Amino acid sequence: MIIFTFKMTCNNRIGIIVDEDFATKNVPPYPYPTFFSYETPLRIKSILSYLEKTEIFNNECIIKIKPFTVEEDVIKLAHTNYHINSIKTLSSRGNGILGEDVCVTEDTYELAKKAIGGAMSAIINVINHEVNQSFALIRPPGHHALREIASGLCIFNNIANSIIFIREKLQYNKRIAIIDIDAHFGDGLVQYFYDDPRVLYFSIHEYDLTEGEIGFIDELGTGEGLGRNINFPIPLNSTDNDFLESTEILELVLREFKPDLIIIAAGFDMYFADPIGNCLLTTISYYKFTEKLLKIAEDICEGKLAFILEGGYSLIGLPVCVHSVIKALLKEKYEHPPFECLDFSGNSKKSEISKIKSSLKKLLAKYWSSIV
Ligand SMILES: [Zn+2]
Repeated sequence: MIIFTFKMTCNNRIGIIVDEDFATKNVPPYPYPTFFSYETPLRIKSILSYLEKTEIFNNECIIKIKPFTVEEDVIKLAHTNYHINSIKTLSSRGNGILGEDVCVTEDTYELAKKAIGGAMSAIINVINHEVNQSFALIRPPGHHALREIASGLCIFNNIANSIIFIREKLQYNKRIAIIDIDAHFGDGLVQYFYDDPRVLYFSIHEYDLTEGEIGFIDELGTGEGLGRNINFPIPLNSTDNDFLESTEILELVLREFKPDLIIIAAGFDMYFADPIGNCLLTTISYYKFTEKLLKIAEDICEGKLAFILEGGYSLIGLPVCVHSVIKALLKEKYEHPPFECLDFSGNSKKSEISKIKSSLKKLLAKYWSSIV
């Protein structure tokens, strides 16, 4: 009955996955500036308080949704027993450190499990047409987590786990596109689908173009998945226009691939004020990106978009970035906050972006008829 009311008054029903635990639990070791300390409950607290202040939750098209409850057998679909047990054991002992960039607290196992449930809730509610779009406001993030190890502030791979679940348990076998806009390459996420022709992975990430990292343009997938892994690395200090320029290729491949569902690994650490990322984006990028993506999704897959929060560590930037995405989904006009009256256009990396774009197009032309 509630859903029916929404249908009568809203063209788009948008589900926001929220849970108070994300805003209170898994407090990293302080004081600053340990790397861990950026992945804090304050990230979600700041988003929720800003969405309350801006009365987003009073909008009749917005529906608050709780994360699904997930048990260990679901995590096992995407992770090894050893990895799951390591997190469980360290959590039960109260704390621990894994590698250089993952800390575990007494809450980590339960909260990371809930984060998978949040991503699943966002995705399943969209494919079941309960909502048109969704946004999972979850943490810890997931796109660096590998099958066998936590990495880069990520414990379990929330998106990969959700996709494997809907395929194996719900027999959902349609094509899926993942668009990863976190500042960092999703090295965990990419491993799950590198040879999979039914999953398109498109990553826009910062790259200094000199150090030998991964996530470069010639990593195109393998086997039947060749051509379905697309990396658009953008230079450090890229601006709004530079970022938006990279979406031209994205649009071409999305319209040709025609996924049934588009999942966005929504990291906001390319924001200019982010303490970890190195780009100069403002909320205008995220608003225009979402506006464009929504239009494409409405043309090809009934508007089915699921945003899953990844990185983003500025407590000023993160709330306004999430807000700008939701405003675009609501198809409402957007004005950037006054403190974004900044002009970074002189820093534009336009010529580098053009070169990357034409090199990438040359590589992709073999696999995509719409790219010449
Ligand atoms: Zn990141």
